[in-house]
Amino acid sequence: AFADGTSVVTNLLVGADGAWSRVRPLLSGAAPEYVGMSFVETCLLDADTRHPATAKAVGDGAMFALAPGKAIQAHRESGGTLHAYVALRRPREWFDGIGLPGAAGAARLAREFDGWAPELTALITDADTAPVLRPLYSLPAAHRWERVPGVTLLGDAAHLMPPSGEGANLAMYDGAELGTALAAHPGDVEAALTAYERDLFPRSAAEAADASRLHALMFGDDAPHGLIRMFTGQQ
Ligand SMILES: Cc1cc2nc3c(=O)[nH]c(=O)nc-3n(C[C@H](O)[C@H](O)[C@H](O)COP(=O)(O)OP(=O)(O)OC[C@H]3O[C@@H](n4cnc5c(N)ncnc54)[C@H](O)[C@@H]3O)c2cc1C
Repeated sequence: AFADGTSVVTNLLVGADGAWSRVRPLLSGAAPEYVGMSFVETCLLDADTRHPATAKAVGDGAMFALAPGKAIQAHRESGGTLHAYVALRRPREWFDGIGLPGAAGAARLAREFDGWAPELTALITDADTAPVLRPLYSLPAAHRWERVPGVTLLGDAAHLMPPSGEGANLAMYDGAELGTALAAHPGDVEAALTAYERDLFPRSAAEAADASRLHALMFGDDAPHGLIRMFTGQQ
């Protein structure tokens, strides 16, 4: 059923509707839980010219400045754009009270990074775009459901996890796998969904466990040493 009052009857309903899926409750009672940390997303534009010190600090690829429970992470995109995620472990409500997306909110967030290098805090205070709050939520890593005729999920609707650089890739992969399963079982949606979910559940559980491990490595109490160990092959 749709918000405009219309409805359709279908023999296949795929919930590809993200973290707050409206389809998921047909299959599972699981609900996303806040992981205890939010990101605030900012961009610096034409950075080599307009923000040279920050452009130099970020370099040509990605830059991670990590401390326990907080981080400034940025990567370079085409056209001299620096795209940053400022991470902070705080209750979800804390972020509602600091004045984001306005300048006051950015200034309040920057105060959490007092004493950090100015070329890094400039990713908060000198942003050329309004800061966007990205609260992080996840579903249980082992999220799965019993087969319900004609209904399935893909992407974040099925396996919301802390950002690990894989979420969008997994969603597209799920879609391709679902299409392949449907094509392999013409006229038998249930057989296709059974085959699709048989692979989906362990794949998603493994990726979600990896994502949680990475999240702990990056923002845990011994940050930045966990990520350094990972990059140097010690973990
Ligand atoms: C801060 C952050 C950084 C990330 N970085 C990366 C990264 O570098 N690489 C990566 O691969 N992933 C990354 N991800 C994860 C990635 O964004 C998600 O995993 C991915 O977007 C999931 O795709 P999806 O199609 O399942 O859901 P979504 O992208 O959320 O798409 C769902 C769509 O459904 C629509 N929708 C929802 N409800 C309804 C409704 N009732 N009716 C109609 N439409 C509806 C929504 O509007 C939306 O367009 C990041 C996530 C976060 C929070």
